[in-house]
Amino acid sequence: MLRSKVTVFVDLWTKNRRLQEQASILHERKLAELERASEARYRQLADAMPQIVWTSNAGGGATYFNRRWFEYTGMTPEEAGPNAWLAAIHPDDLPTAVARREQTLASGEPYEVEYRFRAHDATYRWHLGRAVPMRDDAGRIEFWIGTATDIHDRKIIEDQRTLIVAAGDALARSLDYRETLSQVAELAVGEFADWCAVHVLETDGTFSEVAVAHTDPAKVTFARELQERYPPSHEQPTGVAAVIRTGRAELVAEITDEMLEPAAVDELHLQLLRRLELRSYMCVPLKARDHVLGAITFISSASGRRFGTEDLLLAEELARRATMAIENARLFRQAQERAQAARVLATIGDGVFLVDRSGRIRLWNAAAERITGITEADVLGHPAASALPGWAAAEARVPPAGPGKPTRPESIPLELASGEVWISVVAVGYEEGTVYAFRDLTEEHALESMRQDLVATVSHELRTPLAAIYGAALTLRRGDVDLEAQMRDKLLEVVVEESGRLSEIVNDLLLASQLDSGKLRVTIERCDPLEIAQLELAAARTHLPQNVELVLDAPQSLPPVAADAGQLRQVLSNLIDNAIKYSPDGGTVTVTLAASAHHIQFAVRDAGLGIPPVEQRRIFEKFYRLDPHMARGIGGTGLGLYICRELLRRVNGRIWVESEGVKGATFFVEVPQEQSSTSGAAGGGRHRAGGGPGRMALA
Ligand code: ADP
Repeated sequence: MLRSKVTVFVDLWTKNRRLQEQASILHERKLAELERASEARYRQLADAMPQIVWTSNAGGGATYFNRRWFEYTGMTPEEAGPNAWLAAIHPDDLPTAVARREQTLASGEPYEVEYRFRAHDATYRWHLGRAVPMRDDAGRIEFWIGTATDIHDRKIIEDQRTLIVAAGDALARSLDYRETLSQVAELAVGEFADWCAVHVLETDGTFSEVAVAHTDPAKVTFARELQERYPPSHEQPTGVAAVIRTGRAELVAEITDEMLEPAAVDELHLQLLRRLELRSYMCVPLKARDHVLGAITFISSASGRRFGTEDLLLAEELARRATMAIENARLFRQAQERAQAARVLATIGDGVFLVDRSGRIRLWNAAAERITGITEADVLGHPAASALPGWAAAEARVPPAGPGKPTRPESIPLELASGEVWISVVAVGYEEGTVYAFRDLTEEHALESMRQDLVATVSHELRTPLAAIYGAALTLRRGDVDLEAQMRDKLLEVVVEESGRLSEIVNDLLLASQLDSGKLRVTIERCDPLEIAQLELAAARTHLPQNVELVLDAPQSLPPVAADAGQLRQVLSNLIDNAIKYSPDGGTVTVTLAASAHHIQFAVRDAGLGIPPVEQRRIFEKFYRLDPHMARGIGGTGLGLYICRELLRRVNGRIWVESEGVKGATFFVEVPQEQSSTSGAAGGGRHRAGGGPGRMALA
């Protein structure tokens, strides 16, 4: 009983165990089946995916590639070994991809990397490669699952955007558009094109290549030579010339050999073109508002890239921005030139004004204001004929020359409120009117008329004594007349006296020229003013007209002066001679000497013609005479007072005149006393000559 109970129990236990064992076997089988089914499902899933999927073992060796891999790469399962992907990645992207993979295998971190994947047709497309590790319960990496997603289009758009931004930057940075266009060309080559060339239309209608870039610089030289040898013709039905001519873009997605043949000039040209391996071409115009500035050409060659409409849009966008940059640079340059021209106009010494086609003044510069005294506000917008007095009559004498043509300046007078102003004018015509440039000739004109006066005066002054000498000599020589001894003496006296006058004139001319050239030597010494005055009075008395009385009014003694004695005598002599000469009706000429703190003053007073106050400065100018035509019959060269002023200036003395202009004049001369000259010679500036500065000088 007990045994049978035990047997039953054992049977039951055994069955139970068997059942348990069977159940466990069943479970494992089911699991394995399940696992197989799931793997197959995953693989089906992976194969159905548009992405490239692979798995690799913990060491990185590929264990599986999905169907898309084979479709994309064109590899056979035999070729797809553990390191197959190394052969598919673009050589340029390989170093980064390998480095990232090794880093990831070591760290076990998931990774992402962008690279170009080679397709079965040998083209490359950008992919985003990702890999994540699969770990067991213990956290060990069992295998990796990797994917590669095609991001080519996105990447291109991104690159294009980057290119546009970079080009925009480059274009905005510089105002030298040639340099900027080179930068744009450089930016365009690489991702976008293998070649990029920019041509601009020159003002003479020709176009020149301002920029060219290539991924391979050696090709640039090659292409340049090619272009020099076979310069593009303006009449070409396609290409840069056509794009510039028509303003229409060109796109040739696929350049075939059949296309090259008609484009080639000769067999050599064709060979050279073939060597460039041109694959795809685009040319877009640089189109400004109303004209075409040039064109940008993009060419793909070695990269095998084919341009499509998307690319053309990008190229056009690039061209649009480049055009803007060129226009801006041009506008800026024009503005700068205008500003520069305005600055030049404002600062130049010549008067400049612009008269438009209707005869109205459109520009009147600062010098024009200064020379004429007429302000811009008075003339701008007004007809030149009415705004400028005297212009109506003068205008015809200054016909405008064409731009760049030589012009002959014309001297014309303007009747201004301040008096007559002589100007030398040149005129240049341009499309909107005439530009006149003029210089103030008043001084030159005055100088010129003075020169003429001088020639007249000096020749008259020379001729009078010469005639007297000649006459006397002729009479003396006559054999037919027996001259009395007294008469002979008289004639000889005429010869002596008139020769003296002649030599005085010549001396004055020489002295004036020495003063001008700074060659006159001055010896400043201690001189007695009283003695000098007495000597000069005595000399003057030798030829004093009967109706003139010469008086010296001086103290018994005076301190010495520091001067050149000979020159001081000449000054006094000139003044006394003038006082006598310009007193045609006679009268008293008084020479007064007086001492002040540091100076000795000489005053020569006469009761003669007098000098109007307005002329009192000018009579000290060279050749200036109140009566140049000698209406009153009093001769002279106009040099005497100029010489006085210059001689005195050299010894820190000064000269001036006082006269009411109707009757009588007093000339004052101030010379430093001897002590004051030694102590105060450095302060010579205090003792400036009384006359105005010599404004005119003869060369
Ligand atoms: P000139 O050889 O003409 O006398 P100056 O230089 O000595 O030349 O004098 C310049 C001008 O000044 C003279 O032509 C004359 O008109 C005027 N002048 C000079 N001295 C007198 C004077 N004492 N009285 C009136 N006018 C004078």
